[in-house]
Amino acid sequence: MQNLLDFNLLQLTNWLVGQGEKPFRAKQVFHWMHQSGESDFGKMTDLAKSLREWLSQAAVIHAPGVLADRTSEDGTRKWLFDVGTGNGIETVFIPEGNPACGEAAEEDEPQRYRLRPGAVDGPRYRGTLCISSQVGCALECTFCSTGRQGFNRNLTVAEILGQLWHAVRELKKAGYGERPVTNVVMMGMGEPLANFENVVTALDVMLDDNAYGLSRRRVTVSTSGLVPAMDRLAQRCPVALAVSLHAPNDGLRDRIVPINKKYPLKELMAACQRYLQVAPRDFITFEYVMLNGVNDSPEHARQLLELVKDTPCKFNLIPFNPFTDSGYEKSTPESLRTFRDILIQAGYVATTRKTRGDDIDAACGQLAGQVADKTGRVMKRINMEAA
Ligand code: SAH
Ligand code: SF4
Repeated sequence: MQNLLDFNLLQLTNWLVGQGEKPFRAKQVFHWMHQSGESDFGKMTDLAKSLREWLSQAAVIHAPGVLADRTSEDGTRKWLFDVGTGNGIETVFIPEGNPACGEAAEEDEPQRYRLRPGAVDGPRYRGTLCISSQVGCALECTFCSTGRQGFNRNLTVAEILGQLWHAVRELKKAGYGERPVTNVVMMGMGEPLANFENVVTALDVMLDDNAYGLSRRRVTVSTSGLVPAMDRLAQRCPVALAVSLHAPNDGLRDRIVPINKKYPLKELMAACQRYLQVAPRDFITFEYVMLNGVNDSPEHARQLLELVKDTPCKFNLIPFNPFTDSGYEKSTPESLRTFRDILIQAGYVATTRKTRGDDIDAACGQLAGQVADKTGRVMKRINMEAA
């Protein structure tokens, strides 16, 4: 059985043409499955009956099963998906504003997002979906709960896209309108660039006007800094890029983001420069998790300014989300403010990420899912009970 969620449009077209079908059939199937959320070929009424019958025999549209589905008091919703053999992955939806008020513009986006006809007055809407790319993660950043669990395997395209497919279907039912997901961030479990082919194939579908039609600026890949894969992404599918910096010098970064030993800061910054030449936005977002007494002093902030001085960028300061036995603490509000003010005074945009979905353990770095570790490290307990 072929799972059609494994295909981008080109692959689906080739597959159908291989069966003697006309290429435009692929677009029809794409509309049904991604825009209407239909998984029953029998209901795809503009396809020939014979094609519907053949598809019912030869193919499925199958997203991972849901193990748990919880909604926070602040509207954040988290799904735990079953990806087999004792493994679970997490997906988080973060709504802001009111869907009836039109979509919020990104600061560098064209006016069209502001001028939705028929929009009512009120806070503009943004619906961000945070998607996982791997079961666990092999990169072992010391402050990350996913990294502590070890690595099991890469997600398939259908497992990556299935998170979006399922979320959109459910959120439409829950009254979020026709475009419940306006932004995707690859910031769930796993390192997206370590699962390159599957991630970019899924990105193709997110960007495709026959499917989700998201703009490149509204799809963000977050990486801990896999330099060669950043160059490949620039060539293959340049979307918005966030880089998990977390430290302003190699000594410290080697300790907390161990991949730095392989791709040190000088190479990482050069890769950011190359990426900017083709990026859809004219800046890189640097993520920086604020760890008390580790990377959060005014001196660290000044080193950071020196490091990025040639790279157009914004900073996203992430309050550390603690987990059992992490060995780290969050920065105090004062050191966070001082750190941020040093960046702002130097002329940078520096935001502090709001912590959402705290009551359902949906904050950054808390996505523990459930990983049967193949690398022999200790498996962390699942931190989300079945709903
Ligand atoms: N592997 C990718 C994307 C997933 S993690 C990456 O590392 O960029 C998304 C973001 O959450 C990264 O910036 C990551 O460093 C951060 N993060 C991980 N653990 C965290 C924690 N416990 N508290 C706050 N942020 C964390
Ligand atoms: Fe992997 Fe990202 Fe966690 Fe590092 S922070 S261990 S790269 S998921």
